[in-house]
Amino acid sequence: MSNLHEECGVFAIISPEKSHVAASTYYGLFALQHRGQESCGIVVNDDGVFTSYRDNGIVNDVFTNPVMESLGYGNMALGHVRYGTSDTKGRVNAQPIVVNHVKGHTALAYNGAITNYLELRKELELGGAIFHTNSDIEVISYVVTKERLTCGSVEESLERAMEKIEGAYSIVMMSPTKLIAARDKFGFRPLCYGITSDGSYVIASESCALDSVGAKLIREIEPGEIVVFSKEGIREIKTHCNKCDKKLCIFEYIYFARPDSVIEGKSVHKARRNAGKWLARQNPIEADVVIGVPDSGLDAALGYAQESGIPYGIGFIKNKYIGRTFIVPGQNVREDKVKIKLNAVADTVKGKRVVLVDDSIVRGTTSAIIVKLLREAGATEVHLRSSAPMFLNPCYYGTDIASRDVLIACNHSIKEMEEIIGVDSLDFLKLENLGKLIGVENGCGYCDACFTNNYPTAIPTSSEKNKYSKKISEKEVE
Ligand code: SF4
Repeated sequence: MSNLHEECGVFAIISPEKSHVAASTYYGLFALQHRGQESCGIVVNDDGVFTSYRDNGIVNDVFTNPVMESLGYGNMALGHVRYGTSDTKGRVNAQPIVVNHVKGHTALAYNGAITNYLELRKELELGGAIFHTNSDIEVISYVVTKERLTCGSVEESLERAMEKIEGAYSIVMMSPTKLIAARDKFGFRPLCYGITSDGSYVIASESCALDSVGAKLIREIEPGEIVVFSKEGIREIKTHCNKCDKKLCIFEYIYFARPDSVIEGKSVHKARRNAGKWLARQNPIEADVVIGVPDSGLDAALGYAQESGIPYGIGFIKNKYIGRTFIVPGQNVREDKVKIKLNAVADTVKGKRVVLVDDSIVRGTTSAIIVKLLREAGATEVHLRSSAPMFLNPCYYGTDIASRDVLIACNHSIKEMEEIIGVDSLDFLKLENLGKLIGVENGCGYCDACFTNNYPTAIPTSSEKNKYSKKISEKEVE
């Protein structure tokens, strides 16, 4: 129920034989749907001939039977699911993108956000480049393609481009003969690969997508690493590795990733249970039942209950079939949206002192509605616990935490937040417990900038340079 969104998920496959790689990519994207529901796309490579389809909508709706048939068979495929921020919505920004140039053609997709977007774009435009979108991937593809024109291979062009592109990016690229995966030198966004029983290599944002096609996880792509998959085998390029400390987004564990995924050897489900455990330890409270906000609060609620000894209960039922539901426009749109999505289970909460665990509290507006639902169902006390620390800073690495103005914790004390949200008590995971989610030293190997203001990279400073101020200057022509 968090108001936060991840901006993308990527999936790719290379098969030893011509096969239905589009179908595998479909299943992979389906497993990654939680990372983006705005648009999706697949490019199939059949011996160098690319066939692609992209559109707004979720995987199920976009890839109908006729579309899947039109994609045909091939030996490689690349897919993407996307959540668009308000300034980059629209089919025109859907990925993967396909670029034709004098040395051939390339398909690209990525997850993240580049921090020097405007500088790169300005430089490219002054050099004659013309942009059709305002998405990062077009800038990335321009930089890579420009390098490709003066170097011997597609992987070398990416290696050179990585010297220029700053910020967070987990990229998958496809040439007629190669599939390439790469991660920025900090490793902000996850990217892993595995192998299926028929010898196909599969690359994905999360291991749950490998599971969906029966692939066995081999390992993560290392921060700064480029891995090239082709008929000749696998080649690893580590020029950009070990240039700085790893900074995997800690919020992947708290909220973004699916709980059945394993990231860098750590179970997401376990990390969330640990969050609940530490929430229970840091501020013990007397209560009758612990419930979680579906879906990403459930694991932490379980951890809280196990640690505190307070019984775990099912406090809400989530309607899983909601999709893009029509809501009558009016004053209570947000409340109506929450109500049709969630229903409190009165049998669990009536007459009880409830500990309510959620993954995070951003604006506080959704939390207030959820608490109201619990009170209406008869809860006598509601104690809200957030398995993320307080959000105090914007994210520049692919999450839409855009402005301090909207963050409730930036503008109010705990007491004020308790009143605004309508709870008897409120607590956030303490910063010193953050590393304990994944069993590492505090601040070691992960990014926590939205909580601490410790950005691992230079960030856009002036409002003019801030990528979040990019303007759509004309209406998209469908
Ligand atoms: Fe993740 Fe926050 Fe870092 Fe963004 S700023 S990458 S949301 S930890």
